[in-house]
Amino acid sequence: MMGKTDVCIVGSGPGGALLAYLLAKQNISVILLERNQAVAQEFRGEFLNDEGESILKKLGLFAKVENLGLLRMEQIEYWQEGRLVKEIYPDAHQDNLGIHVPQKHLLKVILDEAEKLDSFHLMLNTRVTDLVQDKEGRFCGVKAIKDGSEFTIQSRLIVGADGRFSTVRKKAKIPVEVKNHGYDLLWAKIPAPYGWKPSIKNALVNGSQLALFTQAGGFIQIGWNIEHGSYPQLRKQPFEPFIEKLIMNFPELRSVVRENIQSWQDFILLDVHSCLCETWTKDGVLLVGDAAHTMTPTGAFGLNCALGDAELVAQQIYEHILLGDSGLTGLKRAEPKRRAYIEKLQALQVDMEKSFESLFTAYV
Ligand SMILES: Cc1cc2nc3c(=O)[nH]c(=O)nc-3n(C[C@H](O)[C@H](O)[C@H](O)COP(=O)(O)OP(=O)(O)OC[C@H]3O[C@@H](n4cnc5c(N)ncnc54)[C@H](O)[C@@H]3O)c2cc1C
Repeated sequence: MMGKTDVCIVGSGPGGALLAYLLAKQNISVILLERNQAVAQEFRGEFLNDEGESILKKLGLFAKVENLGLLRMEQIEYWQEGRLVKEIYPDAHQDNLGIHVPQKHLLKVILDEAEKLDSFHLMLNTRVTDLVQDKEGRFCGVKAIKDGSEFTIQSRLIVGADGRFSTVRKKAKIPVEVKNHGYDLLWAKIPAPYGWKPSIKNALVNGSQLALFTQAGGFIQIGWNIEHGSYPQLRKQPFEPFIEKLIMNFPELRSVVRENIQSWQDFILLDVHSCLCETWTKDGVLLVGDAAHTMTPTGAFGLNCALGDAELVAQQIYEHILLGDSGLTGLKRAEPKRRAYIEKLQALQVDMEKSFESLFTAYV
């Protein structure tokens, strides 16, 4: 089997899905390939900041996502051993301190809009395994597997929106600098007790961050930093003293934690790192989102950066396809400014990680 398209996008996360929609809206033929059966994934970046919110509003998508369900954070709190030491509320110009948007809602809205367009084609359960090169060495397509059969899609541009372990990046041999941040993250999800306010609650446990993010739909997502690479050893320790630290910091969660988190198996590990690619364009390949610049979970920038990339490159790709700009000149021109912004955010993440402990010192 062989397919042909203007743009082949690998990965239907927020970056790939939004880019596919924006290109199809401009009548550019797009094939979006996603290795999973369904696009909704748990434990992903689900907090919108101002950048993500304004993009969705500008595109007329925000209200549609809101109809499916989202939740505005009303306060950020800092707790120590069951005692509230600091609270932060939105200032006069804000109506929230971050918005929780379930990825299944966000992706459903984007993909439902895209499905209305003839130039959009989504293939689920389809894993890209390699890139195809022409005689000059330019990348001109992808090899993918669906239901055990391998096939090729020819494409004028290949977009790697395939996340932090990007296959497209690897196969295009784009150098990447990976940075460890000294911690990994354990995730778990529990029902929110009745009356729980939409909030982000932070605690300091042996110098590490333990955060509770209220989620739309009546849940709390627990994010617990542990020392990088320590999980295999930690899992060999008794579970009870570990979980008791959470309960000690947030006693009102005792019963719901006891019911829902009973062993190490109820946590999911996120191996935390950040990365930055040497270039985001190479010989017919473009990288966006986590594939180009993996963010750590700190500050919840990852989702928003992926949406921002998609919005930014959509116009340049349109010009690239229209003008037959095979050198990706427009995209290359746009890269330094965006790169400077991403580098600033990545530096900010490091600062936030280093200074987390100091947030507990003063009551404001
Ligand atoms: C477990 C976890 C928790 C996270 N928590 C947070 C958080 O709390 N806050 C935050 O801001 N960020 C968080 N992130 C990061 C955030 O989810 C990403 O920054 C954001 O989703 C990036 O969007 P993206 O579209 O670039 O890539 P992704 O959302 O990673 O999407 C990539 C898509 O590509 C698909 N794919 C991968 N390889 C292939 C292939 N070979 N063929 C076809 N499809 C492929 C994947 O299945 C996926 O759907 C988390 C990430 C993970 C993995």
